[in-house]
Amino acid sequence: MVIEDEEAIAQAVMHRLVADGFDVEWAPDGPAGVDLCAKAQPDLVVLDLMLPGLDGIEVCKRIQAERRTPVVMLTARDDEADLLVGLAVGADDYLTKPFSPRELVARVRAVLRRAEPQTASPDGAPLVVGDVSIDRATRRVARSGEQVHLTPLEFDLLVCLATRRGAVLSREVLLAEVWGYDGDYGARTVDSHVRSVRRKLGDDIIRTVHAVGYAIGDTE
Ligand code: CA
Repeated sequence: MVIEDEEAIAQAVMHRLVADGFDVEWAPDGPAGVDLCAKAQPDLVVLDLMLPGLDGIEVCKRIQAERRTPVVMLTARDDEADLLVGLAVGADDYLTKPFSPRELVARVRAVLRRAEPQTASPDGAPLVVGDVSIDRATRRVARSGEQVHLTPLEFDLLVCLATRRGAVLSREVLLAEVWGYDGDYGARTVDSHVRSVRRKLGDDIIRTVHAVGYAIGDTE
């Protein structure tokens, strides 16, 4: 859900989110945002700080009082005090305007990924890929019952692919989702981490899909 009173920004953000496969609803002011949030129960809220009616801080407080919801805050001012208050009332991340819609989507994906262990798989069932078992709650990986140590990035890469079994993820998508945003990382970063995961868990744990990217499990 997007709560933003500047229509041009709201449209740009929503256009990019829809293009990336998200279902998006829009509220143009604070009170409408709180109401729509209660009704739509979004997985994540992109929330402008300066809003008519109720400001973003108050909206964030009210949303969190209803139900824990991941929030990415948008601010026009690079005002550290506001941002700290925003983070204190439950925002997960923030972006200072102007930002690129592409960067916003990367942040949204990263926040959703961090929120996942609390929302997905409540019984804590491990992900199983062949003889490898992945426990997301404890971040432990075992191969044939033997514990294997992965670095945090190797672990996140493995989970990213294993939770979407059969999907081929491009290096660009993996960079956005595992590394968080478009930094100074390149395709080689992904390749070297894939190599390292294979070295630890076996060559066939992650498949290379020629000219596309990587996958775990059979693809259609
Ligand atoms: Ca505004």
